[in-house]
Amino acid sequence: MSPPPRPCVFFDRDGVANQSPGPGYVNHLDDFHIRPGFVDCVRAAAEKGYPAVIATNQRGISRGITPPEQLDAMHRHLRDELAREGLELLDIFICTADDNTHPDRKPNPGMLLAAAEKHNLDLARSWMVGDRESDVLTAQRAGLAGAILVDPDPPPPPPPTTSPT
Ligand SMILES: [Mg+2]
Repeated sequence: MSPPPRPCVFFDRDGVANQSPGPGYVNHLDDFHIRPGFVDCVRAAAEKGYPAVIATNQRGISRGITPPEQLDAMHRHLRDELAREGLELLDIFICTADDNTHPDRKPNPGMLLAAAEKHNLDLARSWMVGDRESDVLTAQRAGLAGAILVDPDPPPPPPPTTSPT
């Protein structure tokens, strides 16, 4: 008898796991900056028994802008940094398709459905953490329990003030 499906927390990547690149792509490991709050979220989820799964659109790959080996390096780094905290990702799902109608490209739910199939996940009890409305829509289309939107990044620091000397 197979074990009952378990819930998980799906995380978007850019703007959630790492600092948002804005409208562009993160193309190099040097530009991949893990957000401390993400590590805290993965820990909080793990403590509640929810494994963490990343589901990320990376069309920069199919456009030839993001080198695949850099993408691999970023995700290796992310896993390594989590491991230093005793944490792990159950999986990372990547949609490289450029076509918005591709079933795996968020807000289409293909990656979440594939994760459920591969890892015996209970989507109806799972959550999505994202930074865009499209992440919320993805959660709805996959039949998740709900979605949480985070601010993609703290506001930029104020410009330095020059004080008279
Ligand atoms: Mg995002």
